[in-house]
Amino acid sequence: MSEHHTPPKFIADCHLGRVAKYLRILGYDTLYFTHIEDNDLIEMANDEGRIILTRDRELSGRKHANAFLLRATDTQIQLKTILEHFGLSKEIKGISRCLVCNTPLETVDKEEVIDQLPEGVKKHFEFFERCPGCGRIYWHGDHYYNMLSFLKEIE
Ligand SMILES: [Zn+2]
Repeated sequence: MSEHHTPPKFIADCHLGRVAKYLRILGYDTLYFTHIEDNDLIEMANDEGRIILTRDRELSGRKHANAFLLRATDTQIQLKTILEHFGLSKEIKGISRCLVCNTPLETVDKEEVIDQLPEGVKKHFEFFERCPGCGRIYWHGDHYYNMLSFLKEIE
């Protein structure tokens, strides 16, 4: 992938919440809604130039649906398929986008967020990122490293 190549933007169907979360960690702009009508999904994809990621053959075959059909049910295989098909890197640079709302994260000073941190986190972590969209704070705890291992297992 060249340096100026703009990665595709995605919208994941309601069966692909885990895939959406991992694509966000990797920094790929991915919308996800737990409930959305197919017509709304297609319209949003077309309005925003997004590729629909779906397990639904009927949806992927719809007229005007710019969709990528996933056949696998396993999250790692689904991710591998997407990364390979679109030539995307799985290099991880921190958490890139909010896992909840898809907004790019900003690094934030510990002093600024210390009042919002659980006690154990205050003691053991120094690096924090905050979502300017929903305010959620991220640090590199066990959950983060579990997600990294999961991504590293994708060959
Ligand atoms: Zn957020």
